[in-house]
Amino acid sequence: MSLMRNVLLAGSTNPWLRERATKAAFVKRSVRRFWPGERLEDALEAAKRLKSEGITTILTALGENLTKTEEAEEVTRHYLDAFDKAAAAGLDAHISVKPTQLGLDLDRAMCERNMDRLLEKADERNNMLWIDMEYSRYVDPTLELYCHARAKSRRIGVALQAYLYRTEKDLERLLPLGPAVRIVKGAYLEPPDVAFPKKADVDENFYKLCVRLMSPEGQRAGALVHIATHDAALIGRLREYAATHAVPSSSYEFAMLYGIRVGLQKKLVAEGQRLRVLISYGEHWFPWYMRRLAERPANVWFVVKNIFG
Ligand SMILES: Cc1cc2nc3c(=O)[nH]c(=O)nc-3n(C[C@H](O)[C@H](O)[C@H](O)COP(=O)(O)OP(=O)(O)OC[C@H]3O[C@@H](n4cnc5c(N)ncnc54)[C@H](O)[C@@H]3O)c2cc1C
Repeated sequence: MSLMRNVLLAGSTNPWLRERATKAAFVKRSVRRFWPGERLEDALEAAKRLKSEGITTILTALGENLTKTEEAEEVTRHYLDAFDKAAAAGLDAHISVKPTQLGLDLDRAMCERNMDRLLEKADERNNMLWIDMEYSRYVDPTLELYCHARAKSRRIGVALQAYLYRTEKDLERLLPLGPAVRIVKGAYLEPPDVAFPKKADVDENFYKLCVRLMSPEGQRAGALVHIATHDAALIGRLREYAATHAVPSSSYEFAMLYGIRVGLQKKLVAEGQRLRVLISYGEHWFPWYMRRLAERPANVWFVVKNIFG
């Protein structure tokens, strides 16, 4: 993985940089490309626009690693309201949360209770709650949260990261549950004893994990896979697998990020594929934005161009 990626990911947790970058007008201008705004209403407006193009959505409020229990309560209430507002707007918009937003670092039991409240709301609204995957140190508690929730309802999904060596085994453990799994490559800085250092290995693992979920065994168990990538080659290979193995279209969906590879998004929908776009909104965008820059260091040029308006 490139040096630039590592530098940008290290910068994502730097308070000095965050303080300065979030005040710079040119950074704010460049973030707009991937982010509809600070308010839930901005995200709902973006979701309505996508709906008119045949694209469903997932909403997530930015913010992670909270330090006060009151903040976790506030985030939980925010998402309860988001479920209601998405329903009132007639949107097919799932909600996705980070366990550390619900207080995982502060009090595990409280985080579980907050997750339960959101899942009850997802059930009430016939909607779906997703759990993001964060740094590798959170994988065990996140999967525990997922299994606890999955015992109560099917309306819960979890992200698994293809860059982690352990993910193949984690998926085998989850498969009998007929899980809803979002396969992603992984967006955090992880050491080589934890994550594949070579992109080609991550890509191959991504393919294998998606195929496992679409396999006859995965299908019998009732698995759903969100193929969450902008990688046209992987998307092509997985479409080919689905077509040649007659995988029902109800058991997989493509998922991409708001504002990224919009042309590919439109093409997939025009070709009859199901696509869900994840819309991130809210004021705490700095670490998330740095991860987006790290995914494609060419984006840094976009920031530079914005210095000149
Ligand atoms: C719906 C969704 C949910 C996600 N949830 C999580 C999660 O819970 N945990 C987690 O660790 N990660 C998550 N991610 C991020 C993911 O791990 C990757 O970092 C991200 O998707 C980029 O990888 P890629 O699969 O698109 O492939 P890459 O090989 O990185 O990119 C493929 C191509 O896509 C384009 N592209 C990719 N990223 C960008 C960008 N930022 N700007 C412009 N073009 C770009 C480029 O053309 C690139 O060549 C999520 C991603 C998606 C789409």
